[in-house]
Amino acid sequence: MISKVDAQALANFTQRVRDDWDYPGLMTAIGKCQTYDYAATAAALLRLAGDRSIRTPALLCEPGPHWGQTSQAAQKAPVMCPEHDYEKAGACRHCERKAVPPPPGWRDAIPAAQQQERNRKQTELEELADQWNR
Ligand SMILES: [Zn+2]
Repeated sequence: MISKVDAQALANFTQRVRDDWDYPGLMTAIGKCQTYDYAATAAALLRLAGDRSIRTPALLCEPGPHWGQTSQAAQKAPVMCPEHDYEKAGACRHCERKAVPPPPGWRDAIPAAQQQERNRKQTELEELADQWNR
């Protein structure tokens, strides 16, 4: 977990290493990793900063070689909402707002649907048996 003060300190230090990276951009990039381990994020950010071919810190939160052997690299990336790629799947605030409660008795419909499927298969088998016996 990275606090705002931690993020500011890291952004200030990184700017001393990469004076072509602006402070707001650094704060945004670090902010996207705010649930990550601070030391791992700092190591990844400095690894990015050391690569002069990388022009902004925006890649920080993305998986990549800059995470190296950090504790963060060992964690699996979360599954993101297919509609809102910045929200975790199953915990997307936008989709939760749009969600409507299921209709009353929706659970009761499941056994009925299974029974309908069984009846359909039974009918199919009887028709096949009829054709066979003709
Ligand atoms: Zn969503």
